[in-house]
Amino acid sequence: MLTKVLRRLERYIGVDAIRWANISDGIYSFNFHRIGDWKETRFDPCVFSCNPKQLDEFIVFFKQEFDIISIAEAVELVKKHPEKIHGKYLIITFDDGYKDNYTEAFPILKRHNVPACFFIATSLIGDKKLPWWDRIAYNYKKNKFKTLKLSSWNEAVTYNGDEREFVRSMLAAAKVSQVPIEEQLNELETLFPIDGEIPTQEFMAWEDLAEMIEHGMDVGAHSHNHEILANLTQEDIIFELTHSKMLIEKHLAYKVNSFSYPVGSQGTYNEQVTTALANCGYDIAFNFQPGINVNIEANKYDLRRFSIEPSTSISTLKNTLGYAKIY
Ligand SMILES: [Zn+2]
Repeated sequence: MLTKVLRRLERYIGVDAIRWANISDGIYSFNFHRIGDWKETRFDPCVFSCNPKQLDEFIVFFKQEFDIISIAEAVELVKKHPEKIHGKYLIITFDDGYKDNYTEAFPILKRHNVPACFFIATSLIGDKKLPWWDRIAYNYKKNKFKTLKLSSWNEAVTYNGDEREFVRSMLAAAKVSQVPIEEQLNELETLFPIDGEIPTQEFMAWEDLAEMIEHGMDVGAHSHNHEILANLTQEDIIFELTHSKMLIEKHLAYKVNSFSYPVGSQGTYNEQVTTALANCGYDIAFNFQPGINVNIEANKYDLRRFSIEPSTSISTLKNTLGYAKIY
């Protein structure tokens, strides 16, 4: 509460603008998922970052204020500046590999002539299977239940008037459950059967990714099955890291050296995972937590990213960056 009042006061007296004007040198990374209108989807609305017009505006802003770099340039920086970084660099990233990354985001990036890295969960590429988060959201939108408590969840999740928030809370409960997601889906679909066939989802094809690489885009691994790595055995972790890397390298004749953790919040990966990344030939890895990357050598498997949400505007973004922590 006090922080809120203080923030409002700071904005009023112009501290926000001063903070923004004095942001630290470092690597700033931004993360997008889907590009489109979250209000129109039959699936998970929480995975939409912004619409194409907003993406265009963000890129204009990024170009004005930062030096946008590729993954290769980021790896070079990590190698060259082990202590501290000089300059304000920016990396644009997309996670998961939805088709709209190719149809909506790629033309905008190409037009602005800026690179971005697409972190793909390789099991989704060329597959039409609806991923678990979209399947839970789809079930809710079909059946419109107002409360849900799966047997492995600590407590019931209840609708409070905001559909997007309700879906977000159900997905959060599914993520922290110790029970495999397939079992949770089976339980959900026994409680609330889906009438008719489960629809398909569209992800990028290998040809889409090949074309994007030709135009200077990067591709990184986001595991194979998009599971929470901290919950897996050592053997399964190694599989997730090596199989995704191998598939991208085989299909695209492209060397993969970057990774983004599925989900990526604290606790979804651990030292066992970062050690495995180093052993499997990855140079850098990104999480899904906000912050400015300054000590990049020390944190090369823990690079922070700011999330872009439908409510993010240039002005809220400046504010977030002005108050962001340094790592
Ligand atoms: Zn993901």
